[in-house]
Amino acid sequence: MSPLTKQINVALVHLGCARNLIDSENILGHLGSGGYALTGDVEQADVAILNTCSFIGPARDESEAAINDLLEAKRSRNLRGVIVAGCLPEKFRDEVVSKFPDVDAFLGLSDYSNVARIVEDVLKGRKVNELSGGRAPQGQGEFLRLLQTPRSYAYLRPSHGCDHNCAFCIIPKIRGKQSSKPIDAVIEETRLLVEKGVCEINLVAEDTTGYGKDLGRGAARLPDLVEAMAQVDGLKWLRVMYAYPNNFPWRLTEVMNQYDNVLPYLDIPTQHIATPVLKRMSRGGTGESVRRIMTRLRDEVPNIALRTTVLVGHPGEGRAEFEELLGWMKEFRFERLGAFTFSPEANTPSGNDTDRCSQEEALDRYAELMELQAEIHADFQQSLVGKTTTVLIDDTTGDTAIGRTWADAPEVDGVVKIDDPQHNLSTGAMVEATIISADGYDLRAELSDS
Ligand code: SF4
Repeated sequence: MSPLTKQINVALVHLGCARNLIDSENILGHLGSGGYALTGDVEQADVAILNTCSFIGPARDESEAAINDLLEAKRSRNLRGVIVAGCLPEKFRDEVVSKFPDVDAFLGLSDYSNVARIVEDVLKGRKVNELSGGRAPQGQGEFLRLLQTPRSYAYLRPSHGCDHNCAFCIIPKIRGKQSSKPIDAVIEETRLLVEKGVCEINLVAEDTTGYGKDLGRGAARLPDLVEAMAQVDGLKWLRVMYAYPNNFPWRLTEVMNQYDNVLPYLDIPTQHIATPVLKRMSRGGTGESVRRIMTRLRDEVPNIALRTTVLVGHPGEGRAEFEELLGWMKEFRFERLGAFTFSPEANTPSGNDTDRCSQEEALDRYAELMELQAEIHADFQQSLVGKTTTVLIDDTTGDTAIGRTWADAPEVDGVVKIDDPQHNLSTGAMVEATIISADGYDLRAELSDS
């Protein structure tokens, strides 16, 4: 440990998705093992690191605003260094380097094993511009993470990158092609997380269903990986997120039915249902094929809670196509649904396609769609009232414990509130609770006697 690290406080500001959170945890893990003191408060920090997001325009705006805030802190008080990492410098390097000359270091995506050295360089007054100072994060376990989630759950990514070419998306240009970790590395990560007291693991990637495709013939695929993870002693819950509809690995439904700790839950972004729009999106399926896949998931996994993500305002979506999307939502009734308005990304086929509605119209469609989903969500929540189910406690606030059911992924779905005046419940507790009411987007429950 160099003499410089002893009294240096480093703060990390995290932006973006769960995959980027794992990057933030890697950064903190390497800083901690590099001997730096970590603080969650930029006001207390000597050096601040911002881990950015850049997948759509609004996310880039948020990242740039955060950079300006840190540079203001550097000007106004004794913040000695500002480091910008993540998807923004990875994809938009030249723009941000010229736009923010007062930033001390820019780091592209990596395993961030270089970050402690870079903080030291910055403290010595050096400007650092490292596209990928650390080893590429491809194909290896991530064992040094400092978890930033409550101990009850954690994210795990079995792969990086994406082989799809959705016409509106720049993520493959940021995170590269699909690169899967060897199954042994993922199992070792799983074991380590369970040893740390993690109850629930959420599998996240650009495309979890593509797992293993790049590892050669006969290599493990997603169902094999999920089955092997389910057999790790002590893993209570396993949840699969970011599945891609086409070429769905159907053995996964058997694994879901066979293992109690593999939740009957699946996050599977569909983006749209109107075939002309799916074609313009280069999603590689039709409305009919998506309907077939979703219906088969319901048929094969009893009580499955399905989450999807849809995009409104994409080129090729007229009123008729939008109505078709609304019609399908009414018919299929996803338990969980998120939506985005189209954001034209430069150098993407959709970004250059002007055959689309105005942003104002897109926002109106978004509001109309989310209003419908709020009704569907409320109906599903109401259908749980009176039922007794397992609730995983993530947090407690005052006399209330906050948890989730099998149907609630962390941070994107609702929560369950349980009155706990005796403060008997704590993070990581798994309790049987009876749902007593639907409370807006969330649920209220009471501990069941049984
Ligand atoms: S599946 Fe499509 S939307 Fe998702 S990361 Fe890959 S290219 Fe982007």
